Amino acid sequence: MSDSEIVHNIGEVKRRIAAAAERAGRDPDDVVLVTVTKTRSVAEIRAAVEAGAVDLGENYVQEMEEKAEALAECDVRWHAIGHLQTNKIRKITPFVSLVHSVDSLRVANEIDRRAEMDGRVLPFLLQVNVSGEESKFGVAAAEAVELAGQMLELEHGLLVGLMTMPPYSEDPETNRPFFRRLRELRDRIIDSGVPERHMRQLSMGMTRDFEVAVEEGATLVRVGTAIFGPRQ
Ligand SMILES: *Cc1c(COP(=O)(O)O)cnc(C)c1O
Repeated sequence: MSDSEIVHNIGEVKRRIAAAAERAGRDPDDVVLVTVTKTRSVAEIRAAVEAGAVDLGENYVQEMEEKAEALAECDVRWHAIGHLQTNKIRKITPFVSLVHSVDSLRVANEIDRRAEMDGRVLPFLLQVNVSGEESKFGVAAAEAVELAGQMLELEHGLLVGLMTMPPYSEDPETNRPFFRRLRELRDRIIDSGVPERHMRQLSMGMTRDFEVAVEEGATLVRVGTAIFGPRQ
């Protein structure tokens, strides 16, 4: 993609997010676009940042470290969206804004421990596998209520909501029930006694289905292909 295509695409994605929010009677400002930069070059990411991308999502720790360093002069927020190995967490806790992909108490504990060493509080989301598909990361919906309660005990890792990644589907409507399920799970977790401030964020929706996710209550959408084109 040329820089001007990236600029155009960002504007288009933002417009579609706003339209979906309005259809659902929501404030478009309540939805954050996370621009997913995995496999993209620093030059491509810079074009996106110049077009107004502020929140950048990366799957791989090493790629995120390298790109964050290369773009150090840019005023951006990094989001960790990929599966995390506990031994790599220390590399990202000094600078990431939000970890979307916490799928065990062990990972949450390591974030807490490392954030304390870095002298900060690090917000994170509990990743839930709402579709029950075997190959996907994330805790089962049935475990999420109890886990969320346990994660509240942390002082430096701060639970702020839920994330999900449904199976690939060409038809965005296929995933609507999964997005709805995540929202309903959030409501159940609040009903179980978890304070609302720990459940404000719902990270759901990618290139093919972000509008449906916004209609179902997403506060963070993670979009790569619609901005940068197909990955190699
Ligand atoms: C790659 C990825 C995305 C973005 O996917 P697109 O279909 O390119 O928008 C979003 N979330 C996660 C966790 C990803 O790995």
